[in-house]
Amino acid sequence: MNSQQPLSFEFFPTKTVEGAEKLALVRDNLSVLDPLYFSVTYGAGGSTQEGTINTVNSIKQAGYSAAPHLSCIGSTREGIKEILNTFQNMGINRIVALRGDLPSGHRDVGEFRYANELVEFIRSETGEHFHIEVAAYPEVHPQAKNAQSDLNSFINKMNAGANSAISQYFFNIDAYLYFVDSCTKAGMDKPIVPGIMPITNYSRLAGFSDMCGAEIPRWLAKRLEGYGDDIESIKALGLDVISKLCEQLLAAGAPGLHFYTLNQSKTTLEICNNLGLSSK
Ligand code: FAD
Repeated sequence: MNSQQPLSFEFFPTKTVEGAEKLALVRDNLSVLDPLYFSVTYGAGGSTQEGTINTVNSIKQAGYSAAPHLSCIGSTREGIKEILNTFQNMGINRIVALRGDLPSGHRDVGEFRYANELVEFIRSETGEHFHIEVAAYPEVHPQAKNAQSDLNSFINKMNAGANSAISQYFFNIDAYLYFVDSCTKAGMDKPIVPGIMPITNYSRLAGFSDMCGAEIPRWLAKRLEGYGDDIESIKALGLDVISKLCEQLLAAGAPGLHFYTLNQSKTTLEICNNLGLSSK
């Protein structure tokens, strides 16, 4: 097993002191895997700005690398400039740059339409200070006109100054491999790290997958659904399926693994253990 590839772990910002204390434990549990960084999501329109900054701060203070996400929809150039300044002053040098989605009821898209414009803006304001990650969609972004236009937009976004990408999660490895292959054929060979979603709860996963356009293969959906409230069986199958997916991805040359931890450490640790990824 290739244990040289970097791992990264994604969190969402907590809202309470208890939540922050719990997340600090989760972070410390995962730190034994020596991740390249912990990333923290950012609500569209800056809705979680304070929570993102606080969570990133606590990760930094504990001595780990932190990468805030930054979404641009609904924002002004001045607002983005300010937050970039804040991140620079905090000693942050990696950002996950996104368009985000306007919350329902909001109509003002602000001064950025797509993530490539945010990437260009970050580069024009801060030069090479930040390592910029962007989002990739091996199964096609749900709002894309078609697969080819989505691929073209992705390559355009990478060429705007991104260093690497993190993919939406997927359960079908071919979707990822074909996507990487199409990028390589189009001359874009920057790293595309697969996003990994551990499976612990079927109904939540099904709802979320519907929304973000990640397909749960029929055989897997049927099996998970068939377990009903039997959480232990769902977790056991999920652990097996995701461990195998990660193993195949690393064997196929994936440049790392990015885990959507949902602020939990147990399943991610179990998957990494199955992969033989060693603790520090
Ligand atoms: P874009 O790259 O701008 O693409 C959005 C859509 O527009 C696509 O359909 C694309 O094909 C199309 N498009 C792009 N450029 C053009 C163009 N020039 N002309 C026409 N069409 C174009 N959301 C958050 O709110 N906060 C987060 O912290 C967050 N973290 C994420 C992390 C990862 C790893 C991923 C995969 C997603 C994350 N998201 C987050 C969700 C993301 O914001 C949504 O998927 C959003 O709908 C698209 O963001 P994007 O940056 O991929 O957009």
